[in-house]
Amino acid sequence: MTITKEMKMTSKEEKVQKYMNKVYEKVIERNPNEKEFHQSVKDVFQSLIPILAKKPEYMEKNILEQLVEPERVITFRVPWVDDQGKVQVNRGFRVQFNSALGPYKGGLRFHPSVNLSIVKFLALQQIFKNSLTGQPIGGGKGGADFDPKGKSDNEIMRFCQSFMTELSKHIGPDVDIPAGDIGVGAREIGYMFGQYKKIRGSFQAGVLTGKGLNYGGSLARKEATGYGTVYFLQEMLKGNGMTLNGSTVVISGSGNVSIYAMEKAIELGAKVIACSDSDGYIFDYNGIDVETVKRLKEGNGDRIRYYVREHPSATYVEGCTGIWSVPCGVALPCATQNEIDETAAKQLVENGVKAVAEGANMPSTAEAIEVFMKSDVLFGPAKAVNAGGVAASSLEMAQNSMRMSWSFDEVDAQLQEIMKSIYQNCVEAAKEYGQEGNLIAGANIAGFQKVADAMIEQGVI
Ligand code: GLU
Repeated sequence: MTITKEMKMTSKEEKVQKYMNKVYEKVIERNPNEKEFHQSVKDVFQSLIPILAKKPEYMEKNILEQLVEPERVITFRVPWVDDQGKVQVNRGFRVQFNSALGPYKGGLRFHPSVNLSIVKFLALQQIFKNSLTGQPIGGGKGGADFDPKGKSDNEIMRFCQSFMTELSKHIGPDVDIPAGDIGVGAREIGYMFGQYKKIRGSFQAGVLTGKGLNYGGSLARKEATGYGTVYFLQEMLKGNGMTLNGSTVVISGSGNVSIYAMEKAIELGAKVIACSDSDGYIFDYNGIDVETVKRLKEGNGDRIRYYVREHPSATYVEGCTGIWSVPCGVALPCATQNEIDETAAKQLVENGVKAVAEGANMPSTAEAIEVFMKSDVLFGPAKAVNAGGVAASSLEMAQNSMRMSWSFDEVDAQLQEIMKSIYQNCVEAAKEYGQEGNLIAGANIAGFQKVADAMIEQGVI
């Protein structure tokens, strides 16, 4: 038996569990070696037993089996010429997972670890995340196993152009709207947008989000994932009689999510004492200076180790996973998937962590989550916590459609409202299905319900 529910089950729930296990086994059989994808399917299924037991229609219509099969998977060759004149070949992906709520929407990741399993897990999560935002967007994700590290600007441009030459056949403002993720920021989006425009012979602002402000980007989009993470955290703490003001926070990563989570946490009175990159981490009990991190990372993409040159009170430690040994009240994993394992989770709990909110996608392993749940640590799951980025992307699409642009404060205010309502919806869904206080269950149930209902309303297509 693979899918389980902790509490004693009713006979209806047992029937659901049998059905789920059958679907899950088929997922494993059909998609061998996709361990990250299996992990994310299991995470969702585990929360859905009570809702499927209450609404037999979902099982009758075989919604789960439809849901775990992407509507379309595209893989393609990305050839490009490096600065030495040599031809390099990477593999590109776009998984168009579910369009029940709107056109496919989700980022592109450029990182050597990218493979079909990673893109599928991210796309599956994106379906529920996008549903939670309340915006009319389906779920998708893409990327390439390209390593931007150490590449010249011209190489990045040539790669992005080649990538878009193929991707352009499959996307469009009403079809599929990619954005950034790890390794893809405003620069890459710019090069891809230029190529799309050239191929199509038309300026379609709504085809990509995370664009530069000069050509249709939205104010506050860059900040939105990090700010949204902290807005969610704030609600979660408030809902449990705590406050961010005065708390000690450890935030992994030093990319776009991490930087703006640090900035907002500090603004709200927290002390951020550590952050990291893939080489190592820095800590300073007096607090990290986010402006220095921004300058290092957003400027030349320098390594975080250089931070200590300017701040001798800080310490640099080689190896990024050690960051979870730094004692803190709040932990925000904002780097990458599975960065908190069981050992790290236990260490955080021993050091007295009170709340964990996932700024990255699936940063905690299943075993780590179990440790947090058993220790009554407040836990905010990624698909709810980091939904602010894609929510702001949807606001960017709305502005593009209207050929208008809103002020920073206008977008930020909408973002805050969206994050508050995501938190509320998660709390209520968890309560309604007998799992009060469990935001993982709440996020999965609330996200799932809307997608499943929309699928049923649209028929078997
Ligand atoms: N890559 C981001 C995410 O994981 C943003 C996606 C988007 O803006 O479309 O949600």
